Amino acid sequence: MTGYLTHEEIIKKCKELNEKYQINEDAFYHIVEQLIDSNLSTDQKLVKSFRLLLEAVSKEINQMENAVEMEPTCRMGCAFCCYFPIVINQMEAKLIKQSISQMPKERKEQLELHFDNYYRMYQDKVDRFADLDVTDQDKKYNYKQSLLPCVMLDTETNQCLAYEIRPLPCRTYVNYTDPAVCADNVMPEETISYEFLYQEYMGAINELLMYLYEQEDTGIVEYPNDLYQEDLLINWMKDY
Ligand code: SF4
Repeated sequence: MTGYLTHEEIIKKCKELNEKYQINEDAFYHIVEQLIDSNLSTDQKLVKSFRLLLEAVSKEINQMENAVEMEPTCRMGCAFCCYFPIVINQMEAKLIKQSISQMPKERKEQLELHFDNYYRMYQDKVDRFADLDVTDQDKKYNYKQSLLPCVMLDTETNQCLAYEIRPLPCRTYVNYTDPAVCADNVMPEETISYEFLYQEYMGAINELLMYLYEQEDTGIVEYPNDLYQEDLLINWMKDY
C-alpha cells in the first residue's frame, strides 16, 4: 500500500473538479485593476502583474486541489519536468529577463554565469532543438529523452534558479501519483496539466496591455505582436 492516488482515482477527481469547481476569474482581473490604479511605472506594472498573475495561477491550482482533496506528490529537488520543452511568448520572455535584471546583484550575476555555462555546455543540443515543433508528440518525446535541462535549472541541486517567475507551464504540470512515474517514463501519462488557466492569466495581462496601449505606452512590450511570437525558453534566453 503506497498511499498514492492511482491513475483512475486521479481521473475521477478531475471529473469531480470539472463538475463542482468554478475558476475565480475575478482574482486575476482584480490584480490588474489594482496595478492600473497604482503609481508604478509602465514597466513596473508589467513586471509586477506578470509575477502576481503567475502566483494567482498557482493559488488557483491549490484551491482546486483543496476542493477535491488532492495533494501533489511533486517534491523539492525532483526536476524531471524541467527536461520538457517550455514554450512562452515574447512578452513573457521579456518580462522574465526584466525580472532577472532587477534581481539583487549577486543573484543576477549567478544567473548570468549559469546561462554562460549552460549555452557552452549544451550548445549542440540547443542548436539541434532550436526549431522544435512542440505540437509533434514524437519530437517532444525526443527532446525530453535527450535530457537537455531547462536553461533555468541548476542540475546540481535540481532547483529552479528563477522559481518565483517560473512560467505557466512549470506551474500547471502536476503529479498526484507515485513520483516514480516521472523517473521511470519519458512522458508519464498519469500527470495532470492545468494549462487551461492560461486563459485567465493571459486574459488579465492582455487587459492591462490594452489599457497601456490606449495610454500609448506599453513599455518594453510591443503590443500586440509580442503576444503572438512564441518560442522555446531555451531560445529566448540565448541573448540574455
Ligand atoms: S523555468 Fe524553472 S521550473 Fe520551469 S522548467 Fe525551467 S527550471 Fe524547471
